[in-house]
Amino acid sequence: MSKRKLIYIFIFFLLFINIVLASIIFSFDNNDLEVVFFDVGQGDSILIKKGSDQILIDGGSSSQIILEKIGKKIPFWDRKIELMIATHPDHDHIGGLLGVMKNYKVEKIIDNSRENESEAFRKYLELINEKNIERLRGESGMNIKIGKANFEIFYPQAILENNSKDSNADSILGKLKYGKSAFLLTGDFPTKKEEVLFEGNFDISADILKIPHHGSKYSTSDEFLEKINPKEAIISVGDKNRYGHPSIEVLERLKNKKIEILRTDQMGDIAYKCKNSLEYCEKIN
Ligand SMILES: [Zn+2]
Repeated sequence: MSKRKLIYIFIFFLLFINIVLASIIFSFDNNDLEVVFFDVGQGDSILIKKGSDQILIDGGSSSQIILEKIGKKIPFWDRKIELMIATHPDHDHIGGLLGVMKNYKVEKIIDNSRENESEAFRKYLELINEKNIERLRGESGMNIKIGKANFEIFYPQAILENNSKDSNADSILGKLKYGKSAFLLTGDFPTKKEEVLFEGNFDISADILKIPHHGSKYSTSDEFLEKINPKEAIISVGDKNRYGHPSIEVLERLKNKKIEILRTDQMGDIAYKCKNSLEYCEKIN
């Protein structure tokens, strides 16, 4: 073997060791749980990740935007998303999930099993079939573990009511608990269903509340806020959106209760880190 060949082999060997070391350092660094509320314009998308484990709740409306966002959070060699949750089949929640299904291996999908006549929903079902993705119905009592955290679904109940005209009414709602911290994740859950939630005897208290339905006035009543008693409220909303979200009514309710308002249209992505060594989560931006 020539001397030059040996040098090449040596250089390749060094490069290989470098890549291995870099991935070990990367995965070590990512041993903490992270919860990110992506700025996807008008829509919702939340990533919960720990190391190479990911749960993606909704994907906004644009495949391009969500693929860029998760591409920065998931290392390039990890092409698998362990679980995808679609809170309800509206375009601003499932539109971006189509691109995620095309570009990643999605192991499992949980949705509320409601049908929708939109083109996005037709493609969503098509991709589930084509990729042979396991699809489960999310309902109250279901628990999903990721690292030291647990996501419990409170709503909808096992038997769906007939809400055929209002797709928001069956939005999956649940609580992500990590030590002393809790996030209430709500999709587009409306005020008219709050009573069902209150009667369910769940502990819905949470220090961080993802405001339902982008701050629409038909969500987030005073009673809802009193029962949850959050310190921070995240509003996932598009800049100058045509719905006028978030509504003045909801902003006033939050201000009156001195709840800190965090908006994706003003702050971009909003991220929390739940360090493995700590029993709570901290906002990191
Ligand atoms: Zn929505």
